[in-house]
Amino acid sequence: MRSETVIRQVVRMTARQTLETELRLRLEQIEARDLYRRRRIQDAPQQPRAIVAGRPMLNFCGNDYLGLANHPEIIAALCEGADRWGVGSGSAHLVNGHSRAHHALEESLAEFTGRPRALLFSTGYMANLGLITALAGRGDCVFEDRLNHASLLDGALLSRATLRRYPHSDVGALERLIADGAARLIVTDAVFSMDGDLAPLPALAVAAHKGGAWLVVDDAHGFGVLGRGGRGALDHFGLNADEAPVLMGTLGKAFGVFGAFVAGSETLIETLIQFARSYIYTTATPPALAVAALKSLEIVERDTWRRERLMELIARFRQGASQLGLALADSRTPIQPLLAGSAARALAWSEALEASAILVGAIRPPTVPEGTARLRISLSAAHAPQDVDRLLDALAELPMHA
Ligand SMILES: *Cc1c(COP(=O)(O)O)cnc(C)c1O
Repeated sequence: MRSETVIRQVVRMTARQTLETELRLRLEQIEARDLYRRRRIQDAPQQPRAIVAGRPMLNFCGNDYLGLANHPEIIAALCEGADRWGVGSGSAHLVNGHSRAHHALEESLAEFTGRPRALLFSTGYMANLGLITALAGRGDCVFEDRLNHASLLDGALLSRATLRRYPHSDVGALERLIADGAARLIVTDAVFSMDGDLAPLPALAVAAHKGGAWLVVDDAHGFGVLGRGGRGALDHFGLNADEAPVLMGTLGKAFGVFGAFVAGSETLIETLIQFARSYIYTTATPPALAVAALKSLEIVERDTWRRERLMELIARFRQGASQLGLALADSRTPIQPLLAGSAARALAWSEALEASAILVGAIRPPTVPEGTARLRISLSAAHAPQDVDRLLDALAELPMHA
């Protein structure tokens, strides 16, 4: 072999080893900063009574707000859907993966949200990437709340539009930012996923109107939980499709199934079908999931008691926590964060709860800003009042100054 070739090979081998070393170093660094994430292995369906690596635990970290993830009627619908449609959709929606089951779900979601059309996406992450990149591009300006979900920020970055982030829920600051440029989209979580507070949607709708922008609302945590019949945060505030033209909702949280959708005008939905790359270039979800989600939609609307039970549990938790002197966040939703500050403390708290067989997630940067690590407690209509009391008892024992 010629020596030049040998040298080139050695250089390449060294580069590959350097990459391995660099990756290992990066992992060691986050470990040292208490930011390393580990998966727990669940041995039971999503429900308050979890089994983690064989051990029974009381679960306060899911997003199954209405207790539908393991509902017998929805399981039966999924099985019937599989009997009727098989398992795989076989291709993307625009090839031949768009079944009548998908279509029926879209029509029902459109009707439920009071909009002309709805479009299914495989996941909420993909819905947000697809819709922002389809609606904004180079030269446009997209405004986002600082605490927006990662998928909304990623969507704006991918779109090549200018991304401007405004301080959390600060409409005044947003309006000042808009004043010196053209706004295309104003994008917000409806219920902030790690804080549980509601975005000031009516004021944002006014700001969008004045700024000549469209308001994009991600209602991942409000859909099913808030509004009449679980119609979500926009319904809660009485905002219509003119005030908030783009509504994104997910089916994997309160709906207990999987997937997501965007609802809006005929023009919006046709634009997404033509231009949203995360819609076009991916396999459609199994049609049986659409059958299951359709059943879930029926139950969400029908079982008013689930939302009532959930609100009672939230009130019970907040009252108990304030009696304990815990610093509660301004949240009326099932997401009830308990601020720890440092990642190490959040982790210590979560581990202490785990020792009492209670499962609560420690949320650390980069999911939340530096210095605001927290326990993210989430409640479900499937919890019993006694479950909340057990959680409160365990919280009372936390080493607050750990
Ligand atoms: C969970 C979530 C998403 C992503 O939805 P998936 O269906 O889980 O991909 C998007 N936005 C917000 C605010 C979320 O909480």
